[in-house]
Amino acid sequence: MNASFFLLGLAVGSFLNVCADRLPRRQSLIRPPSHCDVCQHRLCPLDLIPLLSYLYLKGKCRYCGAPISYRMPVVEAATGITFVVLWSRLGFSVELPLAMLFACLFIIIIVIDIEHHLIFNRVIYPAIGLAFLLPLLSANYEITSAVLGGVTGAGILFILVLIFPAGIGMGDVKLAALVGLLIGFPEIFIALFVASLVGGVVAVGLLLFKVKGRKDAVPFAPFLIAGFTVAVLYYNEILGFLVNVV
Ligand SMILES: [Zn+2]
Repeated sequence: MNASFFLLGLAVGSFLNVCADRLPRRQSLIRPPSHCDVCQHRLCPLDLIPLLSYLYLKGKCRYCGAPISYRMPVVEAATGITFVVLWSRLGFSVELPLAMLFACLFIIIIVIDIEHHLIFNRVIYPAIGLAFLLPLLSANYEITSAVLGGVTGAGILFILVLIFPAGIGMGDVKLAALVGLLIGFPEIFIALFVASLVGGVVAVGLLLFKVKGRKDAVPFAPFLIAGFTVAVLYYNEILGFLVNVV
């Protein structure tokens, strides 16, 4: 079963790459069919096999030799691994397809934020709308805690926007609202705590290794989503640790 979810994740990841390419350009996700952005040659079915086609073609377009971004296989593999993890934790349940759907949205948001330093309204608003439907779909979901989580997440990030307008944007506020809606209250605090911890460590690392300069913007969405993921997986362990330290 793990292999089936991994293969499904690879195929979905391939579509997420298309979304991450086309959503920022306001292009249709379906038409035109997949093609090389450099030579415009339409890709054949063999070129569309996730992961393997990239490895077989050694990361170059079959027709013109232009390099294919390593982001393609990375997103495919990451989606595959995410689907296996979700399946192993949730099993066959109502929550499984919902978690897979939000994982896909998060992957698109991370890729676009890294590449464009933007979180697009056309991605985040439908995701927030979908989060409000969760109480109708899943019994494990409490609307009061969700709304409180969403308001807290958005509120704290909004204060950060006022303090560091260059580093954090309104897109991050909306994403924090979504994360809060999904994780609830008081879990949102742990998600934001982990996000700032990981963000801080990575930012210092990027500065030390001179990958980024002091004035370069570092996208915050990957850290928010990392904080959310860690908080969902290890909430009790982190809380226990913090209580012991304090
Ligand atoms: Zn080409």
